Amino acid sequence: MTTLWPTELWRLRLSRGLSRSPEETAAMTARFRPLFRWCCICCLVSLWAAAAAAEQEPDADDRITQVSVINALMLGRYDGTVALSDLLAVGDFGLGTLDRLDGELIVLEGIAYQVRATGAVIEVDPETTSPFAVVTRFGADGELACPEGASLEALDRFLDDKILERNNFVAIRIEAELATAVLRSVAAQERPYRPLAEVAKSQPVWRHERMRGTLVGIRSPQWTEGIAVPGYHWHFLSADRRVGGHLLECTVRTGTIRYDICGDWTVKLDQSRGFNAPDLGTDLRDQVEGVETRRGVPK
Ligand SMILES: [Zn+2]
Repeated sequence: MTTLWPTELWRLRLSRGLSRSPEETAAMTARFRPLFRWCCICCLVSLWAAAAAAEQEPDADDRITQVSVINALMLGRYDGTVALSDLLAVGDFGLGTLDRLDGELIVLEGIAYQVRATGAVIEVDPETTSPFAVVTRFGADGELACPEGASLEALDRFLDDKILERNNFVAIRIEAELATAVLRSVAAQERPYRPLAEVAKSQPVWRHERMRGTLVGIRSPQWTEGIAVPGYHWHFLSADRRVGGHLLECTVRTGTIRYDICGDWTVKLDQSRGFNAPDLGTDLRDQVEGVETRRGVPK
């Protein structure tokens, strides 16, 4: 049987008024079948390669983004370097402080709140900058019931026992009813800036009873000493968004814990010259613990 090339078939079809005989159709089908098969194989291989590549790509939701390093904040680097709009583009959950150390920052459900030294809670202008913050796009990896009657220290220990990824960052969101809560904020600072340990001595502290709201927590690994706040760092925002701050102590009545293990850490360093002036390698462990992770009401 003579093999007809497609161009010849078209020529034949044109000369016969575009009508196609059964022989021509059979020849055409036979001619194109291998090509069709080859195309199918190529498509399947491409789809498989794309799926494999997507699997290997880091999950954007697994990323935790930090502004500056804790030792820089401890040593008085209070000028904001990253706009809240940029932080909210990479995270909808987190905590930190604001330009000139003007209060406590809480990022919850994509909204940034500032707890001022007066205790007032306001939504932050997206142009406002932060000198230190940690945010992630929260997606729960697990859920736990809160131990009833737990203090903040007991809650830390409970989470240590339940979430074993101690060398990863963990974002922790707790919807809770608190029997008591001790909160603090800090006032905006004027230049020349004093070290944070000194500023914290005059921080306003409030005690509340029967509060419903959200504990926004970040657990950083011990190996981040000098860079992040090792251990648990908790901020709180009430359900009515009228009370909040850095959480110093609490007693949990009931609550639900959801946690997000983050394995992709990004640190945005200050690009200004002043950032390189203090020695950020200084051991400030005691001061970081005193300001950020110590439990109880300060004397
Ligand atoms: Zn704090």
